[in-house]
Amino acid sequence: MDGNRNNSIEINKEEFRKIGHQLIDDISDFLSSIDKKPVTIKESPSQLQSILGNTSLPEKGTPATELISRATDLLLNHSLLNGHPKFLGYITSSAAPIGALADLLAASVNPNVGAHILSPMATEIEKQTIQWLAEFIGVSPNYGGILVSGGNMANFTAFLAARTAKAPKSIKEDGLSNISQKLTIYCSKTTHTWVDKAAILFGLGTKSIRWIQTDSSNKMDNKVLEETIKEDIENGFKPIMVIGTAGDVSTGVVDNLKGISTICKDYDLWFHIDGAYGAPATIIPKYKNLFDGLSEADSIALDPHKWLYSPLEAGCTLVKNPQHLIDTYSSHPEYYNFSKDENEIAQNFYEYGLQNSRGFRALKVWLSLQQIGKSGYEKLIGEDIELSELLFDLAKKNPELEAVSQNLSITTFRYIPFNSKDDNDYLNKLNEELLNALQTGGELFLSNAIVNEMYCLRACVVNFRTTKKDIKEIIDIIIREGRKTNLKLQQRKVN
Ligand SMILES: *Cc1c(COP(=O)(O)O)cnc(C)c1O
Repeated sequence: MDGNRNNSIEINKEEFRKIGHQLIDDISDFLSSIDKKPVTIKESPSQLQSILGNTSLPEKGTPATELISRATDLLLNHSLLNGHPKFLGYITSSAAPIGALADLLAASVNPNVGAHILSPMATEIEKQTIQWLAEFIGVSPNYGGILVSGGNMANFTAFLAARTAKAPKSIKEDGLSNISQKLTIYCSKTTHTWVDKAAILFGLGTKSIRWIQTDSSNKMDNKVLEETIKEDIENGFKPIMVIGTAGDVSTGVVDNLKGISTICKDYDLWFHIDGAYGAPATIIPKYKNLFDGLSEADSIALDPHKWLYSPLEAGCTLVKNPQHLIDTYSSHPEYYNFSKDENEIAQNFYEYGLQNSRGFRALKVWLSLQQIGKSGYEKLIGEDIELSELLFDLAKKNPELEAVSQNLSITTFRYIPFNSKDDNDYLNKLNEELLNALQTGGELFLSNAIVNEMYCLRACVVNFRTTKKDIKEIIDIIIREGRKTNLKLQQRKVN
């Protein structure tokens, strides 16, 4: 080992180049023909296991060329392709290709973005990214924050900051058990399930969540919200936070944020907005009003890995007064020598959130924001919304479809047989079976939503590869498969 360690994990320059070039060739072939592949090839877990082979931990090494080549085959040929133009399920976007290059570069330098001294340029890039994200959604550039793994973590990060800010000051030392009043939080029934996890994680318990009913337009009923807060105060509870949703995960509805903000001011509550999916749509002039009140929020969660088309994972917490994050998360152990420059303050991201060592998520977001700029996003997000509206209109015109809801880029609808006199139970069963058939068929990928007790097909367009032609073809596929599924169910009834 005298200066020449036989280092089996290093890849020499020539070999790295060769493997890398091959990988890039394979990826560019994959991306340029993704529309010609099935969205998914229905392989069961056991089929996949047998492809992988049931081998135990390898004792000896295998050359990197061989490994990368096999991994490329496994992933490119046995994955569900959410980059496919007909993938419109859940809220998972096609990933901007520049993100793949960004992740390769980020992993190669491997900055630890927990502390400035360990990641000087990466930290500054993350700070700039966060500032741009605040600008993107039109809030004050004084908002600060942190990139996290996704919407759940972004909401958690804000939740604990809210608890620190609004619960009695002793909570950081004494925990919840020394607090005489029970803390309560408020959100609409449509709020994403992260809130259950947060209530458990941060010790409030799920009974502390007041699920506020929605009005006829499916927004949180702010009148009921205020009454519930008043009632809780009278009964000795301590309300700390209201959560507004900017684009709910089922149907894309944006709460009346302005109204919530007023209530939060009146009762001195933290105003958090979950804009994981919807917040970027504020960039569309036509939709700006829908988000009135966004810039009043104490904290906002948004997900670059949804409507900004970043590859997984990238979420972001923005906080109006970032000092709240430091109050919540900062600590100064003796083993950290992250001292400040003479005059300049170096920002250490470990003080802004739950993670300590942190990867360089910002690069892929930072690059795509520059690759297409604000105007590029305005165009793509606007088109996603138009495609969703087109789907709704086509469903509305089609006698075998019922268009149910359309908000932002989410459309829900269902298949109804010609001259159907079927009851809702049958239609629910029919559409559930239809969705299962569609999801395994490989031609497209949708998910589901329950709207007013109707089991609906749900399409969420956060996909820059989807075209009008795709939307029209999706309608045709659904009609064809809907008829087939109906026939199958009818025959089952008879037999
Ligand atoms: C997607 C989503 C989440 C969860 O985000 P992840 O990135 O999946 O953790 C939370 N809230 C809303 C409104 C969402 O759309």
